[in-house]
Amino acid sequence: MTTITAENLVKRYECGTIAVSDISFEIATNEFLVIVGPSGCGKSTLLRMIAGLEEITDGILKFDGKTMNNVSAKDRDVGMVFQNYALYPHLNVAENIAFPLKMRKEMPSSKINDRVKEVAEMLELTNYLNRKPKELSGGQRQRVALGRAIARKPRVFLFDEPLSNLDAKLRAQMRIEITRLQRTVGSTGIYVTHDQTEAMTIGDRIAVMRDGKMQQIGTPKEIYDNPTNEFVAGFIGSPSMNFIRGVIEMQSDILFVREEHGAKYALDALNCSFQKPPELGKPVTIGVRPENIILSNSDAAISVEIVAKEFLGHETLLYFRTHPKSATLCSRMMQGERQIHSDQKNISIELQSALIFDAHGNRL
Ligand code: ADP
Repeated sequence: MTTITAENLVKRYECGTIAVSDISFEIATNEFLVIVGPSGCGKSTLLRMIAGLEEITDGILKFDGKTMNNVSAKDRDVGMVFQNYALYPHLNVAENIAFPLKMRKEMPSSKINDRVKEVAEMLELTNYLNRKPKELSGGQRQRVALGRAIARKPRVFLFDEPLSNLDAKLRAQMRIEITRLQRTVGSTGIYVTHDQTEAMTIGDRIAVMRDGKMQQIGTPKEIYDNPTNEFVAGFIGSPSMNFIRGVIEMQSDILFVREEHGAKYALDALNCSFQKPPELGKPVTIGVRPENIILSNSDAAISVEIVAKEFLGHETLLYFRTHPKSATLCSRMMQGERQIHSDQKNISIELQSALIFDAHGNRL
């Protein structure tokens, strides 16, 4: 039962780099928070500060309301799994899992054996307990690393890109495994990744970072449906959200976004809600997810030229542009929807719902 509270955490390295800048959040007991962002945004530094492996320059870190800043890593009671799961090659699976328990000398060896069996069962490693790491597959090795981290039943689980070295299929399996494990073990968890799919599928909540700063924290659905800015909107979702740059204009009392090369999108038809209404003449960006661009014959439809088509079985990705000089947009058509002919070069589309961002990338 552990809550984690970060209050205005800052990390400034000696060279002057500010890797983590004024970050605050609260993680509830048993919650699984995923920290996601591009390489170099400060995710690992933040995780290491929580683990006690990196000194906190400023701000306060608390576990269950107790300040942790000056508590050493070994006394914070965290279990950590890294990208490079360094198993001991000369020890077998059982000995690897038991290692942290033996080191702490807190448990009699009969209890340690019971715990190793319990962990092995949870991770489906029971048949491999006598094998050395070199006799295991990549996925099995990663499971042993997980087992070693959970064997002690730490109050906090920290994962630093643990699946990066695995192939795509194994990553998908391990994602499910880690989520299940975290729920079974019931520890509070933080998981760091640059992979938005991992973030969407693993986390109870997602924290999106950029340049050392927190951009947004929310459930996967909140972040996907209601991103706070253009960066978050573009980072979460695959294929990425489309961005159409233009200027607000008015014609016959109707507000439009006019793209540089001529296409006009009536604001009323975009189904977007504004906190601040857009001002005439201001540059804005329309953000629209691929599933929200549909084929249409309505009066508001826009004629586009098809650039490419990708058939993926359950869906087809259609790439097109409104003008040879405008950006290529992507639409996702699910199987069963009205399809286009293979030789069709032009179609008409409509944006079903969209978001509007100002020139600084903030939501209007
Ligand atoms: P991420 O995990 O998101 O890839 P990191 O936390 O590793 O990012 O790094 C954040 C920033 O801090 C980067 O600019 C990186 O170069 C810098 N950094 C990381 N570790 C150190 C260090 N030990 N000394 C100086 N700068 C560092």
